[in-house]
Amino acid sequence: MNHPYVAEETQLIHLKSRHELEILRESNLIVHEVLTTLKSMCQPGVTTLELDRVAEDMTRKHRGRPAFKGYHGFPATLCTSVNEEVVHGIPSKRALREGDILSIDYGICYRDYYGDAAVTVPVGKISAELEFLLKITQECLMRGIQQAVPGNHLADISAAIQTHAEIQGFSLVKEFSGHGVGRSLHEEPVVLNYVANGRGIQLKPGLVLAIEPMVNQGTDKVVVLKDGWTVVTKDKKCSAHFEHSVAITEDGPLILSLPPSVK
Ligand code: MG
Repeated sequence: MNHPYVAEETQLIHLKSRHELEILRESNLIVHEVLTTLKSMCQPGVTTLELDRVAEDMTRKHRGRPAFKGYHGFPATLCTSVNEEVVHGIPSKRALREGDILSIDYGICYRDYYGDAAVTVPVGKISAELEFLLKITQECLMRGIQQAVPGNHLADISAAIQTHAEIQGFSLVKEFSGHGVGRSLHEEPVVLNYVANGRGIQLKPGLVLAIEPMVNQGTDKVVVLKDGWTVVTKDKKCSAHFEHSVAITEDGPLILSLPPSVK
């Protein structure tokens, strides 16, 4: 899930201990397992509510708590955002259709630590344009992660993401951002997907960030639907969203929400 419009409280940046990183690793590996299962279910005819039920069942079986359910009143385990929906879509009886893209954002609270990741999945065969949007958005995430090394600054992550998307003619959503993650779902610092003012804080080992570019085919402008949650592009063109939770270590970025065997 993304950083909300307004940070709830100003927190100090908390660097995680080795023990905390181990729990965050476990928490995020559950996130990976759930998202992998959901990806395999994304076929025409499946409803986003069915995906949500599977995600909640898996969460409870792992003795976790759905991180988004009840968060500022959000009603579900997943955020499911189809096509022009950017983020925070609410699971419903809407059936997926061939050619759709579905962004699935999932978070768990496990042993008091949060895991958070997102993926955009093609439903059946999608257009070459949408395939390209997904490819570039995922590359933006990986390029941002590559910059998550000690000594770099936050803006190095932001710049890597922004440059790669904009060079392809895509735009970055500005209203929502990545965030620190740990004992809270949204911790300091905010991780912008574009360069604003200054370089931001310097990155240190023990910092854990949820990095999550939201890339639009057309305008970067978004609006929130009447349900109070679903964010859609203003021009109704499609949007993609990929997210990983990443620990900054002496040895470089460690993607917590990806098992070592998966590339
Ligand atoms: Mg997030």
